[in-house]
Amino acid sequence: MTETKYVYDLSEGDISLKPLLGGKGANLAEMAKIGVPVPDAFTVTTQACVAAMNNGGDWPEGLDQQVADGLARLEERTGKKLGSAENPLLVSVRSGAVFSMPGMMDTILNLGISDETVDAVAGLADNERFAWDCYRRFIQMYGEVVEGIAPHVFEDALTEMKERKGAELDTDLSADDLRELTAEFKDLANEALGGHWTTDPREQLLRAVNAVFKSWLNPRAEVYRKSQGISRNLGTAVNVQQMVFGNRGETSATGVCFSRNPSTGGKELYGEFLTNAQGEDVVAGIRTPRNLAEMEEVLPEAFAELLATMTKLEQHNKDMQDMEFTIEDRKLYMLQTRNGKRTAAAAVKTAVDMVEEGLITTEEALLRVEPAQLDALLHPGIDPEHGQTAIVKGLPASPGAAVGALSFNADDAAERGGKGEKIILVRYETTPDDIHGVMVAQGVLTAHGGMTSHAAVVARGMGITCVAGAPGIKIDPVGEKVSINGTTYGRDDVLTLNGSTGEVFAGALELVPPDINEDFQKVGAWADEARRLGVRANAENFEDASKARELGAEGIGLARTEHMFMAADRLPAVRKMILADNEDQRAAALAEILPMQQKDFEAIFTAMKGLPVTVRLLDPPLHEFLPNLVEQSLLVQKLELTGGDASELEAERVTLAQVKKLHEQNPMLGTRGCRLAMLYPSIPDMQTRAIIRAALAVQEREGETVGVEIMIPLVAFESELRTQRQIVVAAVEDELASAGATLDYTVGTMIEIPRAALVADEIANEADFFSFGTNDLTQTGIGISRDDAEAGFLGAYVDGEVIAANPFASLDTSGVGQLVEIGVEKGRQTKAKLKTGVCGEHGGDPASIEFFDAVGLDYVSCSPFRVPIARLAAAQAAL
Ligand code: ADP
Ligand code: MG
Ligand code: MG
Repeated sequence: MTETKYVYDLSEGDISLKPLLGGKGANLAEMAKIGVPVPDAFTVTTQACVAAMNNGGDWPEGLDQQVADGLARLEERTGKKLGSAENPLLVSVRSGAVFSMPGMMDTILNLGISDETVDAVAGLADNERFAWDCYRRFIQMYGEVVEGIAPHVFEDALTEMKERKGAELDTDLSADDLRELTAEFKDLANEALGGHWTTDPREQLLRAVNAVFKSWLNPRAEVYRKSQGISRNLGTAVNVQQMVFGNRGETSATGVCFSRNPSTGGKELYGEFLTNAQGEDVVAGIRTPRNLAEMEEVLPEAFAELLATMTKLEQHNKDMQDMEFTIEDRKLYMLQTRNGKRTAAAAVKTAVDMVEEGLITTEEALLRVEPAQLDALLHPGIDPEHGQTAIVKGLPASPGAAVGALSFNADDAAERGGKGEKIILVRYETTPDDIHGVMVAQGVLTAHGGMTSHAAVVARGMGITCVAGAPGIKIDPVGEKVSINGTTYGRDDVLTLNGSTGEVFAGALELVPPDINEDFQKVGAWADEARRLGVRANAENFEDASKARELGAEGIGLARTEHMFMAADRLPAVRKMILADNEDQRAAALAEILPMQQKDFEAIFTAMKGLPVTVRLLDPPLHEFLPNLVEQSLLVQKLELTGGDASELEAERVTLAQVKKLHEQNPMLGTRGCRLAMLYPSIPDMQTRAIIRAALAVQEREGETVGVEIMIPLVAFESELRTQRQIVVAAVEDELASAGATLDYTVGTMIEIPRAALVADEIANEADFFSFGTNDLTQTGIGISRDDAEAGFLGAYVDGEVIAANPFASLDTSGVGQLVEIGVEKGRQTKAKLKTGVCGEHGGDPASIEFFDAVGLDYVSCSPFRVPIARLAAAQAAL
């Protein structure tokens, strides 16, 4: 049996091996292959990590030998040796998953430095201070990551040393200071480990690799994976790479850069660097770094080479790159490249620009934008005419407008944000450990850290506003307050962040609707060309319908009529209708409602300018329009006790009796939808007449043909639909005859009861179209009540991975999806050209849309603001 290959030399890899080598490892290999300067390395595969993970942490057979061999080859290639007192090799041990998880796992630098090698490191670089800086950093990182020593053990010693020496920055400490600090760190580490500090670099290397494996399962990585839908089974690769040193003095530097601006997509210089520093200093947000543009003056040759390399990598990968680099004594090395996380605006702009530059095709461009991200572009922004003065201005780290009350730690933010409170997380700097708080916040405000800090990268990827490095703000996390330019703000105070300018305002600024820019329109137009599925909107008033059309909806897939019944001016008439003792009384009440409904429909038809509109007849149970049973009982009791007005008491008693009569145990499965219309045919009759009168009025006024589609809800039996259809058709024909007009119209039904899906061939006899009501179909198909489930067990089910996702957010394709599939198939057996759509909330969910495309629906219908998302998702489904 041949042994699995767990270790790849840098020269053996390339981008096609990403699943094995992880993103970082595969990209390092690919960069080396195309001639970009990369320090030599080898990579331990994700497969090795998975094997260890599945084996209770024990390494698979032969892995330690393969790592030792990989190291031996690296030593040979570099001519250096780990632990050698003459020519020591120093390496970094870097995590690197298949999907990038910035800062979520661990990395150890400077491994190989020790009492035996430190002098040689100093001698080779002719720089003693640098060698001791490496050594103290190593003890700290190795101690924390591998040995689990609490960070404050080292931080406290460092702070204390700086105070003692009167040093403001780490860089103010001298070689002697750092030597002293290293000795102190070693003692502290030894103490924390009861004398078991490992000093052999080879042993350290194996332990470091293992620690990186284990960091795959640390809590912040788990939280991040869950939020991004990354599977836990993938594991991380581990890269062992020769160190290059950005901390060798002022001709050395380290930094992060993007090939385009990841906030706006603009083609401009974007990055940060620090001289005399190591990589973590920039990305961890500990020191606020310098703008990359300043590097041109400090290190001109390396700067020019960096620009050329950025272009080369972008051209090669045909996407915006996010890169990490180090300059050692004026020589540039690339340490990482990946496709950059970007905001929605940047995703759209870069996609359009790259098509225009001939770098990618329109199809590729469509796949570059994540549909769900578009949501962020439709959010309201800060009114440019706000006229307020900012209380402070930081770095515009992630765009958008955030208004919220302040929270000073991630747990608190997670708790309050989880309950729906609008929160701004205020932190000195955010670390990846804050991820659970960042995720639920409207925005993040930090005192430290730059635009390329992990916090900023994560915020941009998740569409969360971030202002970083706000100068001079003083945060007191324990007292839960922040002082900004002399004013103190606490938990209950509200601030507004403008993530596009970095400005912070006191109080809540007014937000205005966003501009829909040209690039956005362009992507939309490409999507329209590529997709097969139609996209409609759910809307029931003029504003929503107009918004939907503006955002590209091709019609209305669901206009609910019950919301109109709830309006305060109609409720009395509606109650009269419900409580009517006889048909005459009911007819009188309906006659009162008819003109109001007609006005509603006129507004929708006008807004849609001739596009088809599906109007659903009355759906909810009647008790929703009536007084609450308990409240009404109490009212009657009170009147009885106080012995008030006798006629009033009598009236309330009558109401109570009626409410009792109509009360249902399980209204969701009770007298609703067409069941109500079966009992009271005058209701659908009235609604149909209102629809037709509205259509004729608008046709006459606007000179545009109105597309009328009348939809019967909650049908389970063919006979129900037959009866309802007769009522509707009779009313339409009567209206048309008396107006002497003609009108094209169709009558269809919702498929939202499993039985209806199963007998769709019968139901199709009476239907011109089907619209799958996947909200109810999910409730009835799985047998769960949405409100009870979402407030109750569903969260635990999703967290515990009993089910993959909330089935009300993303369609349960393998279960409820089958009902849709059966419904379409059986319906088309009866009528080959039967029009089919979906009008549940799933109509705006990209994963569900992919399914609807696959089963051959004609259209999806979703809320107006999700229309652009649905258009793009439908295009991606078709590509
Ligand atoms: P993360 O995934 O958290 O960004 P990395 O593995 O990229 O972690 O390492 C963090 C930083 O350490 C990088 O920004 C890089 O600059 C620095 N670093 C990693 N390996 C080396 C190396 N071989 N030489 C110099 N710096 C390194
Ligand atoms: Mg990195
Ligand atoms: Mg329904």
